[in-house]
Amino acid sequence: MSTVVMEQLERDLTSPGFVRTQRPAFLGALSSDEVQGVRQDLWFFGNIKAARSAVPAYLYVSDLSFVIPPAVLIPERPAWLAGWRPHLREWGSTGVEELCFSDHEKFQLLAHAPGPALLRVIEDARQTLDRIAEPASVVEDSKRELHRLWQPAHAAAEAEVYLDAPFSEHPVHCKSLLYTSPAGGPQLFVGQDPSALARKLGVQSQLIASHDAMVYPSQIHENLYLTSMGPPGNLLAFANWLKQVSPAAYALWHAQMQSSAHYQSGVAYHFFASGRQFLGYFVALPKTARRVHSAKEIRAFLGTNVYQDPLPIKRLSAQRMDEDYLVRRNLEAEVPDLRGLQVLLVGAGAIGGFIAQNLLQLGAGGSRAPKRVVVETAKILKQAGKKSATRSLALLAENKGMLHICDRDLLSGGNVGRHVLGTQDVGKPKADALCAHLKRLRPGVSVRPIATGFHTLEGELERYDVIIDATGYETFGRHVSKTVRAAGWLRPPHFLLHVWLEGRGGVVRGLAQDDASCACYDCMWSYTAGTEPRPRHPAYSDAKWNAHGDDGYATMTPFSVSAPMAAAALATDALMSWRAGNAAPRFRSRSSEGKGIHPSVAKDLSRAKSCPGCSG
Ligand SMILES: [Zn+2]
Repeated sequence: MSTVVMEQLERDLTSPGFVRTQRPAFLGALSSDEVQGVRQDLWFFGNIKAARSAVPAYLYVSDLSFVIPPAVLIPERPAWLAGWRPHLREWGSTGVEELCFSDHEKFQLLAHAPGPALLRVIEDARQTLDRIAEPASVVEDSKRELHRLWQPAHAAAEAEVYLDAPFSEHPVHCKSLLYTSPAGGPQLFVGQDPSALARKLGVQSQLIASHDAMVYPSQIHENLYLTSMGPPGNLLAFANWLKQVSPAAYALWHAQMQSSAHYQSGVAYHFFASGRQFLGYFVALPKTARRVHSAKEIRAFLGTNVYQDPLPIKRLSAQRMDEDYLVRRNLEAEVPDLRGLQVLLVGAGAIGGFIAQNLLQLGAGGSRAPKRVVVETAKILKQAGKKSATRSLALLAENKGMLHICDRDLLSGGNVGRHVLGTQDVGKPKADALCAHLKRLRPGVSVRPIATGFHTLEGELERYDVIIDATGYETFGRHVSKTVRAAGWLRPPHFLLHVWLEGRGGVVRGLAQDDASCACYDCMWSYTAGTEPRPRHPAYSDAKWNAHGDDGYATMTPFSVSAPMAAAALATDALMSWRAGNAAPRFRSRSSEGKGIHPSVAKDLSRAKSCPGCSG
């Protein structure tokens, strides 16, 4: 950094009263990065003029590109910040605290103007100090960041926790398995079937321990939060905290602590839903816990281990791994996903491959109700032998979704450059290889490869809710469109979607049909006897790009992987529109910018006059 720039920076910082200073003693020696000059070692000291009093602070600039943001360090808290506060955390093991400013990324730090950037930091630190002086901010800000704040300050050595528990109004008794991860850190799996969860995450490592766990429901409260007591460190502090922030959750937890079964099974983990996350704790129960039976023994146990000499707890924050969360996290609340549907994808080529991956992410091949519920209910109904059993089973079966992938081709070397599959699948049937790929991504997904032509499925159309034609062939598009209409399949709630590339892939298009009154695939052309059908909405103004070349296929070949990805994106949007309750616009385009490309079309196509596909 030039002297001129540094002098300007020092001048800029005099207005809030910050002056350049030496590296403070509490930091000790320079790190090796700093010695090598990778990081700066620029320090300023001054008073942040908070409303209640001036607060002495260091401004530490370790990186003038601001990729590593500057740190505001508070050597000593003023009295008005006593107790636990959000946005203040211990800075390494220096005994000094860092004030987290701008946790919403409200402003950008511009490296070309370091002075104004640092003034902005100091001003934001001032606002943050004033904010956390108010008790209400403790509640509000901790709600937003509870997941992070709940974890111990030095969480690196703590277990990564994965949780897959069914939603219930009651506490759910679960199991847990603790593994060492391949990287050496502990991984904890919590659920009714933690082995299945571990398999889902592809874990092949050493089992360390197994304990029982309780998972408490989310319906009773929106978000847990912290108080000025800070996160609890033992059972008594936990009990007091939970009672204050969620009396309903406390009642459920308290009832557990009063039940002898709780001690017999040695429940060591407790997890509580908070908003869309789970947080909890681990407690190592003393051996005497197993001998607790009577109400009197329970009282004595709690008296000793909660009130007199509270057992320490280890706070844990869990990542949700239930299907509901995995599928729905990125969807709008009111839009149904694809779980529980029978989805037939015809074509496992470049377009179909990407569509298949998207379908998986939207829930295709998943059950609407957890699988074990389907299996267990079926068992109970069979045993009961009730009249309603058949109907109930049929309803449950409807909840079991399946993704059927139909393609009779083998994957070739020429496909690899724009296909989700790679060289290891060359020579294999695309349908089989694509299904295996999806199962690797999501073990447990229900997929069915069909390595024959669509004609083999024409007698069983009624089993499908959704048919996606990703073959990209006009002749097939015309055929499938006519076939589903002739079979009477094309009626709500069924959905047919064609997706294809136009010419050299500069335009991708989709046509949705969800009722026999919609325009059909053939409606996209106008027909005059004795001449070639003319497209009603040509994708390109240059006729050469619309037509196939002499060798037919060759003109279609030169497009990169972006084209099938764009087609899959269009298919995803069309599907989600339909799931949201309105399939319009049923005729869609996406195009890259380019000479000769017509602007995108997005509308419901009118039916063509005397259309060979849908009239008469
Ligand atoms: Zn038509």
